[in-house]
Amino acid sequence: MSQRLPRLLLLLLCLAPAFAARAAQAPIKTLILTGSSDLPYHDWRQTTPLLRRVLEQTGRFEVRVEEEPAGITAATLEDYDLVFVNYNGPRWGPETEAAIEEFVRSGKGLFAFHLAAYGTFFGMEFREGKWQYPEPRSSGWAAWRKILGLDWKPENIGHSVRHVFPVEWADPDHPIAQGFPGGFLANDELYHRIDLLPGAHVVAQAYSDPARRGTGKKEPMLWVVRYGAGRAAYSPLGHDVSALWQPGVLAMFARAAEWAATGRVTLPARLDPVPAKSANAVRVLVVTGGHAYPVEFYTLFDSYPDIVWKHAVSPEQAFREGMEKRWDAVVLHDMHETLAEAQRAHLKRYVESGGGVVSIHHAIVDYTDWPWWYEQVIGGKYFTKPAGGHEASHYKEGVEIVAYPAKGMARHPVLRGVGPLVLHDEAYQNMWHSPDIQVLMETGHPLNDRPVVYVGPSKTARAVYIQFGHSASTMRHPAYRRLVRNAILWAARKLE
Ligand SMILES: [Zn+2]
Ligand SMILES: [Zn+2]
Repeated sequence: MSQRLPRLLLLLLCLAPAFAARAAQAPIKTLILTGSSDLPYHDWRQTTPLLRRVLEQTGRFEVRVEEEPAGITAATLEDYDLVFVNYNGPRWGPETEAAIEEFVRSGKGLFAFHLAAYGTFFGMEFREGKWQYPEPRSSGWAAWRKILGLDWKPENIGHSVRHVFPVEWADPDHPIAQGFPGGFLANDELYHRIDLLPGAHVVAQAYSDPARRGTGKKEPMLWVVRYGAGRAAYSPLGHDVSALWQPGVLAMFARAAEWAATGRVTLPARLDPVPAKSANAVRVLVVTGGHAYPVEFYTLFDSYPDIVWKHAVSPEQAFREGMEKRWDAVVLHDMHETLAEAQRAHLKRYVESGGGVVSIHHAIVDYTDWPWWYEQVIGGKYFTKPAGGHEASHYKEGVEIVAYPAKGMARHPVLRGVGPLVLHDEAYQNMWHSPDIQVLMETGHPLNDRPVVYVGPSKTARAVYIQFGHSASTMRHPAYRRLVRNAILWAARKLE
């Protein structure tokens, strides 16, 4: 169970933006071949996840990653339209290499870049700090040269110093270039002195500046090759994630890959490397102020495609006219004992319109001069001083607290995938609790009240209080993060 859920979630998160974009066209079934690169120069562990995400975000590609290409057979490749190569390492062996050749020859697509242009595939070995041919010379993988349409003599392997330079179209009429006016900027090593084989058709190029240790000529930056009935494209760009974090470079890669797979190009001339948010992402307002907190708190909301959030640092900034139209959930991590009339009115309307509330840790002190809030919405109150016959609550920092789902609550959506918690956090004791709360998690810690996660009594809003949230270690705890995420989605009525 603990294995399956996060994976399923990850899959859903990956697919959500893709499905949103281009449901009409059948996706290009893509296999990224990776798992080895010539470290420390090139690091596939960094570049492959970025390339995968960007390809998936276009909605045009359905991507799988193979980190051990040696052993792939024709049967493995049967269902794919495209292989996308981010690899420089040992040969793949006769069966796999023959399967790749036949894959392209039979009419499928191949895209490769940068590090794929030299190495063992070309019969080279790395000796005395450089690539060279062994004695006696081996021919390497003869078809690989032909598929990529290139040969790079070891003595010519090199590039300008890394710099920012414009890439222009050598063939503006090629489908990869059409609708992509003017070219784009690259931030890369400018590879030079690559020999193109007959049949390699140059689509993009860049001037190699002698002042940057270049050749003083235009060097090809993208070329395409027909191999049998198939298509291949190679670009010397793509040194690292920063080189790839260029909207034009990513767009050219994706368009070249689309062209290799289909012979057509539909993708835009710019691809944003920033992770996309899904169209129906939950809109969250995070409210702080009045109490310190670790900066790790922010990471609780980051990096989820289905959560977009804004931050307010005061009640005036947070609780404004019409907030019920702007937010699906409000996360409170502030601490203000009083709340002015105007802000009360806006927050009340928000709650009465069904907006979700997630209150974290010291936010249990919030608005304690406003009985409606703690009696009817949150269902709990921390007394900073004795009041109304209730003595003061108290706290103790740096306590190891164990919490379990309350009886019958283990299957509540807010606790999905959470399990028992062991947290180094802050104990709170002697609080007031409404008899109408639904306790989701509880602790037997002698310095803490029994309920630690509960649903408030509000009849209109879903309000969840999570007592934990004092320490950075709590914020980083995977199960706590899951708990907060679940609470947000459930409060926003996106998790049932
Ligand atoms: Zn490089
Ligand atoms: Zn605290």
